[in-house]
Amino acid sequence: MALIEVAGVDYIYADGQRALKNVSLKIDRGERVAVLGPNGAGKSTLFQLFNGLLSPSAGDVLVKNLWVRKENLAEIRRSVGMVFQDPDDQLFNSTVRQEIAYGLLNMRVSGKALEEAVSWALEVVGLNGYGGKSPHNLSGGEKKRVALASVLAMRPEVLVLDEPTAALDPRGVARLIRLLNSINRELGITLIFATHDVDIVPLLADRIYLLSQGEILLGGTTAEVFRRK
Ligand code: ADP
Ligand code: ADP
Repeated sequence: MALIEVAGVDYIYADGQRALKNVSLKIDRGERVAVLGPNGAGKSTLFQLFNGLLSPSAGDVLVKNLWVRKENLAEIRRSVGMVFQDPDDQLFNSTVRQEIAYGLLNMRVSGKALEEAVSWALEVVGLNGYGGKSPHNLSGGEKKRVALASVLAMRPEVLVLDEPTAALDPRGVARLIRLLNSINRELGITLIFATHDVDIVPLLADRIYLLSQGEILLGGTTAEVFRRK
């Protein structure tokens, strides 16, 4: 059973823009999948189907064999952790600790379990000692790691990341790639990410889908796709 399955999906925005055209793909548990494509290709539209922020105009989206629709959304949103491109879009608490606790509190986690989950997430992303700081005064790379920790704390099965290395310096990129790979390897979390940065793909993806104007132009293993170039 695929972790995520998209079958024959169209997505048409209210203004008539057809952002996805007959898109089909399957992502298995534990994989690291890159979605490549220029601006406007449909990457973020595709990602928003994975947790029901958008519903397909045609076709099917399944997560863990569950239809992505209302009655399954609570379960699906626990399983699918979304990390946005700009961490400022998802950091709105006054301390890092509160930021990471926020989603857990919504899941009714409290007391010692909450403390432990927050400390664990800080540890995983290498931000021990940052709990009392304001997320807004951190560097870009640190903000990205806080956003990642706040999603990881909820123990998702898959992380969906939009341009995870955008706006990082080369050192930040290298560190984030190490971190994401260890999250995949050691925690078994599936990774799906969109990127413009072709250089990171061999370092962070087992498989690639190339999206252009809402259509999948090609899909294959990283080795296959890079050989064809
Ligand atoms: P990407 O993430 O690859 O840059 P998007 O999924 O954001 O691509 O956009 C795909 C297409 O859908 C683009 O043509 C974009 O302009 C259009 N689009 C995105 N969001 C909206 C919206 N809210 N309303 C209308 N069109 C949109
Ligand atoms: P790694 O990513 O394997 O921790 P780096 O080479 O990126 O290693 O880190 C170099 C230095 O930066 C080390 O002294 C490390 O302790 C420190 N460091 C790593 N992560 C962080 C962080 N999140 N905040 C502050 N310092 C850090």
